[in-house]
Amino acid sequence: MKLAVVWFRNALRIHDNPVLSWAYESENADFILPIYIFEEEIQQKSTQNMGEQRLRFQFDCVENLHQNLKNKLDLDLHVFSGDCLEVLESIREQLQPFEVILLKEYSTNPRDRKQSELIGKKLINTNPTWSIKSFPSTQTILDIEAIVGSPGYKPPKSMKDMVRLFKIEFGDYENIIFETNDPNPSSNERKQDVSVNSKYQVSLDKIRSSLSTAGYFRGGENEAITRLEKKVISQNDYVNSFNKPKSISTNIQGNPMEPTTTGLSPYISTGCLSIRRLWNSCSEIQQSGEHTVPPVSIQGQIMFREMFYLLSRSVDNWDQDSGNPQCKEIEWGELNHALLDSWDSGQTGFPLIDAMMRQLNATGWMHHLGRHAVSCFLTRGQLWQNWTHGRDIFERKLIDSDWALNNGNWLWLAGVAPFSMPYYRIYNPCPDSKSSLNVETKDAEFIRYWVPELAEFPSKYIFEPHLAPLHIQESAGCLIGTDYPNPIIDRKESRKKNLQSFKHSLEKLR
Ligand SMILES: Cc1cc2nc3c(=O)[nH]c(=O)nc-3n(C[C@H](O)[C@H](O)[C@H](O)COP(=O)(O)OP(=O)(O)OC[C@H]3O[C@@H](n4cnc5c(N)ncnc54)[C@H](O)[C@@H]3O)c2cc1C
Repeated sequence: MKLAVVWFRNALRIHDNPVLSWAYESENADFILPIYIFEEEIQQKSTQNMGEQRLRFQFDCVENLHQNLKNKLDLDLHVFSGDCLEVLESIREQLQPFEVILLKEYSTNPRDRKQSELIGKKLINTNPTWSIKSFPSTQTILDIEAIVGSPGYKPPKSMKDMVRLFKIEFGDYENIIFETNDPNPSSNERKQDVSVNSKYQVSLDKIRSSLSTAGYFRGGENEAITRLEKKVISQNDYVNSFNKPKSISTNIQGNPMEPTTTGLSPYISTGCLSIRRLWNSCSEIQQSGEHTVPPVSIQGQIMFREMFYLLSRSVDNWDQDSGNPQCKEIEWGELNHALLDSWDSGQTGFPLIDAMMRQLNATGWMHHLGRHAVSCFLTRGQLWQNWTHGRDIFERKLIDSDWALNNGNWLWLAGVAPFSMPYYRIYNPCPDSKSSLNVETKDAEFIRYWVPELAEFPSKYIFEPHLAPLHIQESAGCLIGTDYPNPIIDRKESRKKNLQSFKHSLEKLR
């Protein structure tokens, strides 16, 4: 009797899931055991590695996966919390009667890879009835391992390189419709699941009661499909005219929570939405008329994502400041806890930065240009802090937290990578209507919502409120320095000083 253990990690979905489809359809599996492992103690609001919103969102995804597996395929998802190897060891005895094949998604993340290696060594190699099978292209369109291992592969530096690669791989790549594979319960005899017990098993109901209440984005495959339909499939004009650098960073007018971009990143990074499904939807719509193209189109965004997956697998120490061939080792300032804490908690005295960081804290999400603003501010712009400090905070809090993408984008914004914007292009954290951060400045609704202390401030002063005369502060009911912080830094001075420091650091590296 053959048993397929389907280990869900970063593909929390039923649709277009090659791992699940293989288990469901292959003659090499008679039974299925779907599992998910939370790698931390999670009966609390947040953990060391996951902030409240990220943990709650992840849980939503697992809960929805559990429901969908039950309702659509009549399979029970077994959920555990603990060290992966220990969890698998704890069910090994009960799986004695089976020939077990452990199915897992391919991952570029070194932590996942190390874990798989350990499991291979300690569990698979020591149990003749166990084997392991890894599936490429579960999280990406490209087969990352195959591309980085191919002769002549060079790490891509730009969208031009990516377009070249996509043309070689797929030809007319913008119009391609990729094959997707959904398990079809009606065409197959339903495969039965098996049941196991373990001290690491957790009750979903119990966990739910310990978590934060829902934020703006609810996790799960159902939500992912609903958002895909609402923002993409039903919006031909939106898709065909999508132009990322022109999108407004302060969200939809009238709804300071709803992104002007697709808002699909949390669903893509947890694998609730297949990246191929999104690509295909865009290809179909683009065939209806004129459309934007990479790098600004939605497909262009997906290609940036693929680029970072390639880099994260092929560049040594991708997440490090040193020993990373794609990172110039700039002499950043000593870690300054007070500055970092003000940034983290949205208390810098720069309303745009604070509004963005408070949105991150409350919802786990921020627009791409908002991320530009706050990461530039923390590093080469104003606070002169090492990018890895901001990276760590993002990793913990973002509901779309993704190791390959988060590191890649921080390298980009800190100005240290070959694909970075020039280090001297610094965003003004107090933008006007012409800023390339695309901030809505007329009503400044986003700032009023996220920084309610400034709700009554006139728009003229709201991005730099300490410059408002005292009588205006009084009539707005907010005294700067008392009700809202003074700026933690002189932005013009720090900009000047940091530009010099960056230049000196670069000269030393030559
Ligand atoms: C400092 C910094 C850190 C970031 N960390 C993350 C992260 O941990 N996880 C994450 O998913 N994105 C990250 N991004 C990239 C980007 O900001 C988000 O993917 C995007 O804002 C998500 O919103 P959306 O789904 O509406 O994007 P859309 O514009 O609608 O794009 C569609 C999809 O394309 C992908 N994408 C878009 N922009 C990028 C990009 N610059 N790089 C790679 N993929 C992209 C995402 O999967 C996104 O969902 C980061 C950006 C910066 C500047």
